[in-house]
Amino acid sequence: MTEILPSYVRDGWWSPTDDSETATVRDSSTGAEVCRVGTVGIDLAGAVAHARSVGQRTLGALTFHQRALLLKQFAIALTARKDELYALSARAGATARDAAADVDGGIGVLFTYGSKGRRELPNARVVLDGPVETLSADGSFLGRHVLTRLPGVAVQINAFNFPVWGALEKFAPAFLAGMPTIVKPATPTAYLAEAWVRILVASGLVPDGTLQLVSGPVPGLFDLLELGDTVSFTGSASTASRLRAQVRPGVRFTSETDSINASVLGPDAAPGTPEFDAFVRQLLVELTTKAGQKCTAIRRAIVPAGREDALIDALAARIAERVVVGDPRGPGVTMGPLVSRDQRDEVLRQVAALREAGGRLVLGDVDEPAVVHADGTVAPAAEGAFVAPIVLAFDAADAGAAVHEVEAFGPVTSVIGYRDLDEAGALVARGGGSLVTSVATHDPAVAAALLTRIADVNGRVLFLDRDDARTSTGHGAPVPHLVHGGPGRAGGGEELGGIRALHHYLQRTAVQGSPRMLTAVTGVWHAGAEVDVSDVHPFRKPLSRLRIGDRIASPSREVTLDDIEAFAHLTGDTFYAHMDEEAAAANPFFPGRVAHGYLLVSWAAGLFVDPDPGPVLANYGLDDLRLLTPVSPGDRIRVTLTAKQITPRETDDYGEVRWDAVIHNQRDEVVAAYDVLTLVAKEWAA
Ligand code: NAP
Repeated sequence: MTEILPSYVRDGWWSPTDDSETATVRDSSTGAEVCRVGTVGIDLAGAVAHARSVGQRTLGALTFHQRALLLKQFAIALTARKDELYALSARAGATARDAAADVDGGIGVLFTYGSKGRRELPNARVVLDGPVETLSADGSFLGRHVLTRLPGVAVQINAFNFPVWGALEKFAPAFLAGMPTIVKPATPTAYLAEAWVRILVASGLVPDGTLQLVSGPVPGLFDLLELGDTVSFTGSASTASRLRAQVRPGVRFTSETDSINASVLGPDAAPGTPEFDAFVRQLLVELTTKAGQKCTAIRRAIVPAGREDALIDALAARIAERVVVGDPRGPGVTMGPLVSRDQRDEVLRQVAALREAGGRLVLGDVDEPAVVHADGTVAPAAEGAFVAPIVLAFDAADAGAAVHEVEAFGPVTSVIGYRDLDEAGALVARGGGSLVTSVATHDPAVAAALLTRIADVNGRVLFLDRDDARTSTGHGAPVPHLVHGGPGRAGGGEELGGIRALHHYLQRTAVQGSPRMLTAVTGVWHAGAEVDVSDVHPFRKPLSRLRIGDRIASPSREVTLDDIEAFAHLTGDTFYAHMDEEAAAANPFFPGRVAHGYLLVSWAAGLFVDPDPGPVLANYGLDDLRLLTPVSPGDRIRVTLTAKQITPRETDDYGEVRWDAVIHNQRDEVVAAYDVLTLVAKEWAA
């Protein structure tokens, strides 16, 4: 008998001593026992308490940037040992290409959040959400939304098909947001989750209490959860609805479930066009990657009526040319088995249901296929979970509900004809909410017309054409930068989508108060809060001494017509508002000739700069520049520059400083307002 897979709880490995209730996990190709899974006697209450106390404390001590850096280091640690994960993936039926999607995909998520966390979040523990709202005429009462982490534990329940990527795409945002995680993998591939957790734990990088793994059932876990905890679920819609009903009020629950995705061949994408070829290539990839066990796989190929046979012929030729079914360790194998015999039986049941509903079997068959074994022999594998690619065809006119509702979670797709774009859109929508629909078209009018019909029933829409076919990440590949999830049947949840993913683990709160209070609680200076206009120019202060609120208030300078003309000729910007009194005066916005906005901004730099070498290393841009009041010859301008936000970098000896810049005229009207962005050294020897 094999070992019972250990769990990692309360910062230690734990295995049950009672092996009475274990499930046996088998190699998908050979049926050989891989491990047993069971958790009788596990202390789930202790795990939850540990996350809430120790995990919350250790993550709370870190800023977003420090957590992001750890994610990057986790990615490096997994990369160094990814061969082990590949070898184990083969036991679950994954070819090297399948393993890349799971293992490298998961590592890619860690790298992406490691990088985005440092580029797009402050080096702090509070995030500002949206701009400041001025709620009183004199600016003494402000409102602002802030995001702070939830105080509990993030329970993450994963599907069997992506034991690495599926877990890491939940773990990374939770960790970055500051919430400790308990991972519950699916039984058939729990040993892969155990492997990546083991690698991270062995790296010594994981802060105490921030990552726990329960390798098996979690009875009673939901009774332990309360306000401040979250559950993120990936799996079948039926399990999702059962679990949703068990979650107490106040516990956030998001789900990603099965999805009857579609791919539409545009009316312009006739055989022979690059779009037709790209459509066929993509359909084959989706049919065979992970043997079709992908939530994003194309279950419905929706093609112009009359073009079904051309598609099926092209697909048949490509399958004959490219698909070799077998044990992923066997020579030349391009498609592995399903994860288990149970899963195979389930897929064949769904195929039978689709055939009963009118689907004609046009490619493949449901008999046990002869497959390539690890030693290169070719024969049926009685203990393996193999299914050959299966394509069914439906006539749109009499395709019933089944083709839009039955998920055969394997290498199975159905071809349906459509008469016009309205019908194509309606067919897509009958999926009841999908993760993704792709459209192969080179005609922008087709793309625009379809988007308005299908965007509301999809989490993602991919337009595939000759320009992006080679560079496209593909129909079935969620990317960490974009939202993964979909409405309705797809679960109604959202994951990934860049920093958006953190919102599952953060509470948005509207904070109201005076500028002084908002400055204190956000760490970002708000107009109206205290300023320090000392003798030391803020450009002389390195990050170690600079404080938010440090200000330089410049003297004023006069604006002359000669200067405006000189600037116009120097830059070539001789726009009439600066050069032609009569035409400028006729413009509804100007009293006559006015100074260039860029001249004002340049003058402001000249007014606030401290020119000698110092800790300010570079100006890397402006944000939110608004030119609010025209400036005429004879006016005078002055500028105030106030340190607004200070973001030291973790890995460099400098950081970013955002300065609030406001230019006024001699009537104290605001002429221009913007943020100046600079890089400033942490230390500077004067
Ligand atoms: P599943 O049977 O619904 O199981 C999903 C997860 O729920 C597993 O970890 C399972 O653990 C767990 N689970 C079941 N009962 C539970 C309970 N009472 N309490 C706590 N956890 C429980 O789905 P699956 O067979 O693993 O995955 C295939 C399905 O997932 C397909 O329908 C596919 O479309 C969908 N999927 C969706 C996405 C997406 O992002 N939308 C991604 C991948 C897969 P055990 O295995 O231990 O029972």
